[in-house]
Amino acid sequence: MSASSSSLPRVVVLATGGTIAGSSGDPASSAQYQAATVPVSQLVQAVPALADVARVETEQVAQIDSKDMAFGLWQQLAGRVAYWSVQPDVAGIVITHGTDTLEETAMFLHLTQSCPVPVVITAAMRPATSLSADGPLNLLDAVRVAASPDARGKGVLVVLNQQIHAGRDVTKAHTSAVDAFVSPNTGPLGYVQDAYIRFTRMPARRDAEHLPVPSTWPVPSTWPLAEIVVSHAQPGRVAIDALVAAGVKGLVVAATGNGSIHETLAAALADAAGAGVAVVRSSRTGAGHVSIPAHPSPRAGLFVSAGDLNPYKARVLLLLALAADPSLGFDAVRLQSVFAAC
Ligand code: ASP
Repeated sequence: MSASSSSLPRVVVLATGGTIAGSSGDPASSAQYQAATVPVSQLVQAVPALADVARVETEQVAQIDSKDMAFGLWQQLAGRVAYWSVQPDVAGIVITHGTDTLEETAMFLHLTQSCPVPVVITAAMRPATSLSADGPLNLLDAVRVAASPDARGKGVLVVLNQQIHAGRDVTKAHTSAVDAFVSPNTGPLGYVQDAYIRFTRMPARRDAEHLPVPSTWPVPSTWPLAEIVVSHAQPGRVAIDALVAAGVKGLVVAATGNGSIHETLAAALADAAGAGVAVVRSSRTGAGHVSIPAHPSPRAGLFVSAGDLNPYKARVLLLLALAADPSLGFDAVRLQSVFAAC
C-alpha cells in the first residue's frame, strides 16, 4: 500500500468464478479453457493499476462456471452484498461473475438489494491467461465505477467492454465477442474511458410508494418451481402438462414475436393457468415490449405480459413474486401490476 493509498476509497471484490477467472494451457485460444480456476487474489494482483484507484479487498464467495448458477449461491451472494454494503468506509462492491447467467444474477440483485453503495458486476469473455484477455480492464473499470460517487443511487450496475449497463436491462447477446453485452431496449447508462466515467442517463427508478411492489423483494428461503417454455413451430404440450403434474407454480413463455403463442401451447398454458399456475408471456426475439391486449380474449386474459423483460429476467421476477405471495398464481390482474411496476 503506498503512502497516499489510505485516502483511497475502499472497494470489496466478491468473486464467484466465470471466464474472468478462467485459464487455458494455450494463450492463443480464447474458446478452449476452463472457467473458474484463478483465485480472486491473483486476478487483483494481475492489475497493479487498481492500487491507484481503490483500497481493494477480496472475498472468494464461490468458484463456479456461471452456467451452473443456483439459488443457494444467489442467497449467499445477496448476504455478502448486504453485509459489505453497510460496512463503514466501504465505497462500493464489485462482483466478478461468469457471463452466461450474469444477466439473471444482475436481475436478482437489482430486485433484492437496496444498494446503499454501488454494486457493480463484471466479467470477461476471454480467460485470464488469454492473449488480449478482457478481464483485467473490465475489473479495473468495474472498481473505478464502484468507487465513483457518480455511481451512487443507480442500483446494480454491469460494467464490461468500457460500458456501464443497468443490471435490470443488460443481456448477453453474443457467444464470444468481447462486446457481447447490450441493453437492447435502453442502451447503456454510460461509459468508462480510463479514469473518466460518464453516465449519460439515469436508470428507471421504482417509486415504491406508488407501486404495488416492495422496494426490495425478500430473498426467498424456499423457492417456488418456475420454469421457461418456448413457443415455436409445431410444439407439443407434453412438457407443460408434465410441469403442471410436477407442481410448477409459474411458467414464463418465450413466445414468438410480440408475445404470440402457438395454439397447442396456448391451450396447455390456459389449462395450467386455470389450475393456478402463473403464466407470463415474454418474447424470444431479444428486444421490445410484449403488448397487453386492450380487449384480451378469455384465454389471453389469463396470461401476464413480461413487458420488456426477456424470459430469463422475467423468470427471476416471477420466482421472487411467487415466493413472496403464492396467491399471485391465481390473480393475473395483480401479477400483471407487479410486472408493470418492475
Ligand atoms: N461459462 C462461463 C461462465 O459463465 C462463460 C463466461 O464467463 O464467459 O462462467
